[in-house]
Amino acid sequence: MGHRTGACQPSSTSELNQARISGQLYRHGTLSRASIAKALGLTAAAISKLVGRMIEAGIVEETGDLPGALHRRSIGLRLRTDAYKVIGVKFARSQVLWGVFDLAGDPLKQGELPRVSEGNIPGTVRAVTSLVDTELASDPAIVAVAMAVPGPYLRDEGRIALVTSMQGWRGVNFIDEFSRAFPVPTFIEQDARAGALAQSLFAPTETDGGSPTNLAYYLVGEGVGLGVIDGGRLINGERGGATELGHVSIDAAGRRCECGNRGCLERYCSAVAIHKAMEEPPYRGHFPEAAGLSHAQACRFLFLQASRGDGTARELVERIASYVGYGCVSVVNAFNPSRIVIGDIVAAAGRPLLDTVQRIVAERALPELREGTHIELSRLPADATLLGAAAVAVDRFLHSPTFFAELKRRRQGEGMGPEPGTHAGHNHHDHRPGSDASHEQPAPPSMRLHPYRQDRQ
Ligand SMILES: [Zn+2]
Repeated sequence: MGHRTGACQPSSTSELNQARISGQLYRHGTLSRASIAKALGLTAAAISKLVGRMIEAGIVEETGDLPGALHRRSIGLRLRTDAYKVIGVKFARSQVLWGVFDLAGDPLKQGELPRVSEGNIPGTVRAVTSLVDTELASDPAIVAVAMAVPGPYLRDEGRIALVTSMQGWRGVNFIDEFSRAFPVPTFIEQDARAGALAQSLFAPTETDGGSPTNLAYYLVGEGVGLGVIDGGRLINGERGGATELGHVSIDAAGRRCECGNRGCLERYCSAVAIHKAMEEPPYRGHFPEAAGLSHAQACRFLFLQASRGDGTARELVERIASYVGYGCVSVVNAFNPSRIVIGDIVAAAGRPLLDTVQRIVAERALPELREGTHIELSRLPADATLLGAAAVAVDRFLHSPTFFAELKRRRQGEGMGPEPGTHAGHNHHDHRPGSDASHEQPAPPSMRLHPYRQDRQ
């Protein structure tokens, strides 16, 4: 374990082992004490002691005898994934989605903020803060907040380096705005990396569950991004800007991009580019309905028309799918993942998109690499980046279950009403920065000041 995340990391052997037990139960569901002991190389006595603590802390529970159980160590144990909740927020260019999830990634509540424009970004930030405050105040089982933001996100600085078509987001410092705003830890991650984590945690395949995960989440939404988990670890790069596939050029003499490059992939197959294509020659006039729609709505409209047999819509979808395919060839050749999951707005084009991408990869990618690569559309039950935000928080929980169990207990205690000698009511405005929150013991500062980091040393 690295120490860069400070309090995020378990600080004692007991906490570390409780995190390992949580990880085992999360991946494998119900297990006996004996099978956990075997998997982790710990003695039966050590496991019994640790599990006892975890049951007391409300992290795991017994489920009754496992089939064929002969003695006490064959009682099933499960992680209490429904006893803890996290808030996820997805920031896209013009779209902000949020949700409350349990640790299994099951959505308990979801919503969308009004469409964001350059002019109302500060108002949107205030609306997110207020919404998260309200949710936290109403439910002490919520123990973390995580936000997924478009890349390239400079993790140490807390800001986005570039947001094509929506530069106003560059003025938002996510660490300043959110990291100290709430009485629970807040994590911030680049959207496609969060999406990769969601695929790994909430929609694992047999290969993910065994040896270390090699998977790429290919986000084709308002922007185009990529998150790669290689050998079980996210690829971040020096400043957090690695794997910015959307700004990899597919045409050196192609369309100019705000990043300074030409022919960036994002300029050809993002939802923004698709919406634009629907309103420009040669498609101008074919989709007059697109004028008043958001980028996501325009794409959904196009895909619907294509599925109904509109020839022009089909042609445009095929063209977009080809570009998504060219990007996918680069993913195969550059990262050699075992699995590529395509998600976000453009993935809603469905089977025709996937067929074209697979054909182009078969035609163009290095044969030895593409043969072992499975390409699929996201199977997650909600927006993969929104679930990705939740996954970032769940991942942190699994690294420090004891910390979050204690946090929940404290929050529940506060929910019982003011304690003698304090003025601590349940008004969430007490938790605002600068207010008197001395009764409050949220996450240690080192945990809140830094953005989410994926350290798995
Ligand atoms: Zn670019």
